[in-house]
Amino acid sequence: MKVHQAYRFALDPAPAQERMLRSHAGAARFAWNWGLARCRERYEAEGKWYSGTDLHRLWNEVKKAEPALGWWGENSKCAYQEAFRDLDRALRDFTKSRKGERKGKRLGFPGFKKRGKCRDSFRFGSGVMRCSGATVTLPRLGTVATHESTRKLARRLASGTARILSATVSRTAQWWFVSFTVEVDRAIPGHHMRAGSAIGVDLGVKTLLTGVDDAGNVVPVAGPKALRSSLRQIRRASRAHSRKAQGSANRRKGAARLARVHARVANVRADALHKATSALASRYETVVAEDLNVAGMVRNRRLARAIADQGFGEARRMLAYKTTWNGGRVVTAGRFYPSSKTCSGCGAVKTKLALSERRYVCTACGLALDRDINAAVNLLNLAASGAESQNACGGTVRPGLPGHVLVKQEPGTTPVGETGTARGRRPSRCRRFRSASSHCPC
Ligand SMILES: [Zn+2]
Repeated sequence: MKVHQAYRFALDPAPAQERMLRSHAGAARFAWNWGLARCRERYEAEGKWYSGTDLHRLWNEVKKAEPALGWWGENSKCAYQEAFRDLDRALRDFTKSRKGERKGKRLGFPGFKKRGKCRDSFRFGSGVMRCSGATVTLPRLGTVATHESTRKLARRLASGTARILSATVSRTAQWWFVSFTVEVDRAIPGHHMRAGSAIGVDLGVKTLLTGVDDAGNVVPVAGPKALRSSLRQIRRASRAHSRKAQGSANRRKGAARLARVHARVANVRADALHKATSALASRYETVVAEDLNVAGMVRNRRLARAIADQGFGEARRMLAYKTTWNGGRVVTAGRFYPSSKTCSGCGAVKTKLALSERRYVCTACGLALDRDINAAVNLLNLAASGAESQNACGGTVRPGLPGHVLVKQEPGTTPVGETGTARGRRPSRCRRFRSASSHCPC
């Protein structure tokens, strides 16, 4: 199966190379701003803007005629070209979003980029891109040392199971990274190593996640709370930075220090998520998780920081591709499935459950256990109850189950039949389910 995968390496450029990296990032920024200015001019005159190819053609005409742009030859043509492509996509996304054809938040009109206020980044879409040992070779820049070995990608390139499509170079704090977008021919196993194993996973605020597997084992993952533990450092660095005079060398140093702390927080978080999701995907064939409305939850300002710190959205994304690579699947419980409020013993559903109640105590059967474990057991039961009815063509609604299991393919993440969506039963939705199946108990 051919998948697009990123291989990211931290670069260790020589001083001259670092100057070139900065120059390329500046060129990409200039091209974006130049293109955006042309598009705005044309939009005001004719009511439409240029495409990426038009901009590149226009740039090639102007750059030679304009003496002020004499520096264009110092950078790879890709830096300009790819910036025009990015701008083209941003404009198209803006149009789509305005028409309501694009999911998510409404996008604003693309803005100009300012040095120091935007991400330093540029992309090579063609040219010589190679890697070997602890080096990568990029167009114009030549061979750049990396901090770690590139052998995993190098081996794949040598054996012909991978092809580099593009290389994006970006800066985070004082570190430069290259991220290769690679088309990889992955051998996806036909079945999981531990066929039939399943785990219900409750993503929590107190802990990163609580899992209960089919053998009844509780798998708690504490999670690093990266942001909270570094909050004091961030506050100090942020305060120190804001006290420095505008435009001074000390302010620049303060900004660099603050960026380093933020980068560390992101790294700690990503590391914990990668380890937890890799472990789950390799040990269990079926991972059942909730479909959390992360964007909505972050709007709760009391919880926003805690939720954002855990990286729920990222955990879900990682689980989706990692389970596929291991021959497993992710089953997602519907957004309205009451995993926390349902009793895992008798199935009674509470109408209210405050987040401060860390223990679930059932008033119907007297069951008392940890709130997160109860939710994880419910999720596990949800998948087990509908497991045999899962297929690619659509869901079967089974009577007397805690939730309806419908199967839907998530595009781009898993092949047909690998991913299921289990929807919780909602009184107001029963009419719709009835029409889908004659077995509905309602
Ligand atoms: Zn109960």
